[in-house]
Amino acid sequence: MRRKMVAGNWKMNNTPAEAVAFANSIKANINTDKTDVVLCVPYVALDAVKNELAGTHISVAAQNMHYEKSGAYTGEISGEMLVAMGIPYALIGHSERRQYYNETDETVNKKVQKALALGLKPILCVGESLEERKKEVTNELLRQQTNHALFGVSAEDVLKVVIAYEPIWAIGTGVVASPKQAEDACAYIRGVLAQKYCTDTASKVTILYGGSVDDENAAELFGQPNIDGGLVGGASLKPTFADVVKAGLPK
Ligand code: PEP
Repeated sequence: MRRKMVAGNWKMNNTPAEAVAFANSIKANINTDKTDVVLCVPYVALDAVKNELAGTHISVAAQNMHYEKSGAYTGEISGEMLVAMGIPYALIGHSERRQYYNETDETVNKKVQKALALGLKPILCVGESLEERKKEVTNELLRQQTNHALFGVSAEDVLKVVIAYEPIWAIGTGVVASPKQAEDACAYIRGVLAQKYCTDTASKVTILYGGSVDDENAAELFGQPNIDGGLVGGASLKPTFADVVKAGLPK
């Protein structure tokens, strides 16, 4: 039985003080160890939010990391720095990073490999654009992104990776994938994992859906057989995030 996970991606929102206040309200409303809850927090608020959530079952994630240990990479943060801060997860390959910061399948793979080598759990994002969906190359794209991101990753290590299927056309648009579209894509990704590893390994990997998830649509999406929860952007900044998490509780 795979555990459900609900991860909130705050993106570039909340100062450290705002982040702590919001984390405080989340912990007051979300009190469960039945579903994994992860908040992807801006770097500058990671430490404060981690401290605020100490003693709860809610974890934090960085929204990105560099694959090099240190060096002349102005503005970047290394995996080693995150580990030193005690951060357990790192979001890797979010479509906004691929789109605005030229992340490629190759850099995403380097980051996934580095995170795993350091004991950081990657939340790896994959997903097609609207154009790719219209051209009916979604599956091909998902296969390519997944295989490339996991190049060199062992069957043992892939169990530490969370994959988030995030169709770009659904991110921040209010246009949510239908439960069938989301399930089909997540099932397809699981099939790619089964081919690369084996069915048993694939059946143990957590696969999330992300893209305009909110408190009204979460339950049906998270109820699909191959969807183990969600990566939630806009709705993770609202008090109703607690209801999205509740939708991820085991039924
Ligand atoms: C995201 O940022 O990963 C995301 C899914 O955003 P939203 O829920 O706002 O579509």
